[in-house]
Amino acid sequence: MSIVFIVSAPSGSGKSTLVHRLMECERDRIMFSVSWTTRTARGQEVEGEAYHFATRDEFERAIKKDEFLEWAEVFGNYYGTHRSVLARAEAEGKDLVLDIDVQGARQLRARLPDAVSVFILAPSRKVLEERLCCRSEDSAEVINRRLMGAVREIRGSDGYDYVVVNDDVARASDKLWSIVKAERSRRRRMEGEVRRILDTFEQND
Ligand code: 5GP
Repeated sequence: MSIVFIVSAPSGSGKSTLVHRLMECERDRIMFSVSWTTRTARGQEVEGEAYHFATRDEFERAIKKDEFLEWAEVFGNYYGTHRSVLARAEAEGKDLVLDIDVQGARQLRARLPDAVSVFILAPSRKVLEERLCCRSEDSAEVINRRLMGAVREIRGSDGYDYVVVNDDVARASDKLWSIVKAERSRRRRMEGEVRRILDTFEQND
């Protein structure tokens, strides 16, 4: 069974960098869930890598056909996780990382109670504002909207299993990777391995 890792953060908290670093360490064992979105591609974003870019029409048709595990409207655009993503991770025997917002995380936790959720936070509003301004991808108005969104998201983070404060990228990456490794070692996920070891004892009885 794939472990589903939900990673959320207010935008500018450094989540993408942390998820990238995790994927580098875990390339063979974790699949990144490529979401659908109706927003337009930013900078170097490539179709099928960062997102599947869809029209509002296409997205709404997929909602009607119940094709999403979860979906939400964020900053005026639709974002959603297609059901086929989890099926593919299961088929390939990989765990799955989803970079989704707090609304999507709530839906997913209700649907998949075993999912592990991690909330990433910049250490302060000042740091978040600096990071958003540095990116210079967005207008002042969008940055302001993102800062207001951050407050809402942080307040909505109480149902998450873990919090990682991204004050230092190397340290925060390490924590995220440790969470992944610790979750894999949970007793209920080690049933097969424990059984195999127990068999080696029982064969000698
Ligand atoms: P951005 O436009 O900056 O890439 O993403 C904006 C927000 O949408 C981020 O908080 C991101 O986590 C969220 N997001 C991305 N993909 C999904 C998705 O499939 N579902 C949900 N609910 N949120 C998503």
